[in-house]
Amino acid sequence: MPIPLLLVEDEPAIARTIVFALEREGFHVEHVMLVREARERLWSPRCDHAAVILDVGLPDGSGLDLCRDLRQRSRMSIVILSARGEEMDRVLGLELGADDYIAKPFSPRELCARLRSLLRRSAMPPVDSIGVAVDDLLAHDADSARIRFGTVWLKLTRREYGLLRALMRTPGKVWSREALLDAAWGSDADSTDRTVDTHVKTLRAKLRDVRPDLDPIVTHRGLGYSLDLPHDA
Ligand code: CA
Repeated sequence: MPIPLLLVEDEPAIARTIVFALEREGFHVEHVMLVREARERLWSPRCDHAAVILDVGLPDGSGLDLCRDLRQRSRMSIVILSARGEEMDRVLGLELGADDYIAKPFSPRELCARLRSLLRRSAMPPVDSIGVAVDDLLAHDADSARIRFGTVWLKLTRREYGLLRALMRTPGKVWSREALLDAAWGSDADSTDRTVDTHVKTLRAKLRDVRPDLDPIVTHRGLGYSLDLPHDA
């Protein structure tokens, strides 16, 4: 059975290349050019797409808005396509819940490989179905200074470890960047608020590798971050 995908891309030449490459690899690609058409397909109760590949600049709106709306209602895999060098698109796309990001120009083979790995990860059994208690989603082993997420011991840098350990002490509490800095790795001469953001970003990526469907670190605009664990994970 081919794996059904939705491609939202308004440049016919790029769309043709993607459709050709993916169909050769065993996907079935439905292609639309507008945000409006994509919404009709994705919001339909008959939607059976395993993933959506989403261009950012579309004639009737932004792929990023669509990404955010879709993530609020679905765990479907989302890959963002964007123009070369649009760093903001990448950051925003991942913040809005996209699972992966590919910058144009890209090789169709790379897109295939990323999609396959994404779909493999999302097909893994959810943590609660393999015997780990729900409130046991994150566990800290102080003796060996490591943190387990789901069933995986995370490979963290010293700073990522400090950051996550601090957040885990008070789930739900909103930490300012300064407070996190202090709690996570003390007064470190070359650390700034931006340092916190950078390590939150890499930490999120590592958490996402384990559970692409969860984003337990919540950004509070103008305030900071909190750790929010879903009750039904
Ligand atoms: Ca475009």
